Amino acid sequence: MQRHVFTLIELLLATAQQNCFFKNNTSLRPAGRTSRSFDNCQNCSSHLHIFTRSAFTLIELLVVIAIIAILAALLLTSLSRAQQTAMTSGCLNNIRQVGIGYLSYSDEYGYTVPVYANDRWYNNIALYVDDSSGNIWKCTSDTRKNSTLSYGINQTICRDPEFRKKEDLLWYGIGANKIKNPAGFITLADSCKYYIGKDAGGRGTETLLDGQRVINGGVYSYLALRHSKDGFNAAFFDGHVEHILYSSMPTKYWDYNGDSYEENN
Ligand SMILES: [Zn+2]
Repeated sequence: MQRHVFTLIELLLATAQQNCFFKNNTSLRPAGRTSRSFDNCQNCSSHLHIFTRSAFTLIELLVVIAIIAILAALLLTSLSRAQQTAMTSGCLNNIRQVGIGYLSYSDEYGYTVPVYANDRWYNNIALYVDDSSGNIWKCTSDTRKNSTLSYGINQTICRDPEFRKKEDLLWYGIGANKIKNPAGFITLADSCKYYIGKDAGGRGTETLLDGQRVINGGVYSYLALRHSKDGFNAAFFDGHVEHILYSSMPTKYWDYNGDSYEENN
């Protein structure tokens, strides 16, 4: 079926013809409409007058343009929010997989963090991580060029003298049984190498380990607030993941004893 699309001019002409029709056929006028309503139709053989009587005025045109602009702005805002939500969800899925690999390793070896002086933590848990997508180590909101690792592990459990073997420079994490509140303790999170205070105004006291080797304490990274205004994603020691706002984050998330900084100081 062929579809006929009316142009604006055709619609205006049709309106003018209707006005002329009602002027000449008083019995068919719409209720409440008098002949004065149609008296302005001076020349029914030519409808050029519609451009002065029925066409859009400048104000009407501006109002329409303003409404379209507002609707477009609302649409773009919604699309932007939807995109951010999708990127946050993608990162949460990644971090869940890596977090499960982290826990699997800890379950098998009895200590929490597989940190070695001669290797990187993610290599040690790679066997336990399902990377069938090929992008499991990269946050969907990480825009750094050539970045292949977006996550870091909580460094507060990277060193435990009980598990340290000086002779081979191996570093192990604390015993898994020492974590008092698994559901309230972060194992890994979005990280970057730059001090958080410079970019986001945060305290930057939470340190993580990402791709750096761990020798004599290693080189620490810091939380990267890549999601929403000051948000990041994190995995916890019970396996669940969360999107967290840095400004409202409980500091006890970083202490395996379950204490906050304020309680410690
Ligand atoms: Zn992320």
